[in-house]
Amino acid sequence: MKAFYAEEQKRHDPKAFLSSGAPQPNPEKPERVERLLAGARSAGLTIERPKDHGLGPIAAVHTPEYLDFLEHIFARWQRIEGASPEVIPNIHPIVRDGSYPASAVGQAGYHMADTACPISAETWNSALWSAWSAVEAAETVMAGAPSAYALCRPPGHHAFADVAGGFCFINNSAVAARVLRKNAARVAILDVDLHHGNGTQGIFYARPDVLTVSLHADPVRFYPFFWGHADERGEGAGLGYNLNLPLPRKSGDAAFLEGLATALRRIRAFAPEALVVALGLDAFEGDPFGGLSVTTPGFARIGEAIAGLGLPTVIVQEGGYLCDALGDNLTAFLTGFGRKKG
Ligand SMILES: [Zn+2]
Repeated sequence: MKAFYAEEQKRHDPKAFLSSGAPQPNPEKPERVERLLAGARSAGLTIERPKDHGLGPIAAVHTPEYLDFLEHIFARWQRIEGASPEVIPNIHPIVRDGSYPASAVGQAGYHMADTACPISAETWNSALWSAWSAVEAAETVMAGAPSAYALCRPPGHHAFADVAGGFCFINNSAVAARVLRKNAARVAILDVDLHHGNGTQGIFYARPDVLTVSLHADPVRFYPFFWGHADERGEGAGLGYNLNLPLPRKSGDAAFLEGLATALRRIRAFAPEALVVALGLDAFEGDPFGGLSVTTPGFARIGEAIAGLGLPTVIVQEGGYLCDALGDNLTAFLTGFGRKKG
């Protein structure tokens, strides 16, 4: 299997992060890339640099005012006297149907869901290359490869069409799904990250052509709190095309695999022509977020079960934070995925 990654993706180095209001080091560190690259290589993948795919595939998912904001907000922020070194919002609209704010501070609140997605000088470029890794993986699968892996960092699944959040700026999984839709009538996105893929859900919520399924720690007491509940099923033409499978905190391999079996049944019934796996590794028992208790061999079983769908598959990296087993967990997933059944 080919893997895609560009060095520019490592330059984004967010500093600010609040945990229950307390300043902490930001967990989405560039070093994650080294661990994930090692994990991909251990599974036998070859790493290739993606091409510059321009804004087209990204603009198919995100609004023009949001992309303009992401590209220019850091320079604008620098002109505010006494502003923070990174762009961080301090006010948000309660409803978003009013006029569009003109100021940098107003737009930061409009386009950033939380304080976990600080924007620095390198953020836009890193996010572009991360998305282009996803585009290239999707194009590789469209050209006939059974699967491809995109080492997307920064991650993407908390980014909505016009809102960043939770370390995410461009929704790489959604971008990959839209690329696949050029050839596939129906595409499924299966999100196995610890956290609900709220941005991905939001982007496709009213659409019947992209099924979104997410397994995650129950948001009743976990980020992202306002999304990821079982009663969110889609809307309009998309009603019934979103499935959330919240799991109790600290659920281990058995509960995760049981939820996954439900997810795979729904995906089979949708009969997609291609699959995007939003691969978070933070459901791991030793991940610093500590939400679920999946083991390293558990990731191999998850990969194997997903491969059993027999679909052309783009695997897009989402979360998974620094711990000794981060690379091993990627190796386990990819190795299990390679042991395709039937
Ligand atoms: Zn996560």
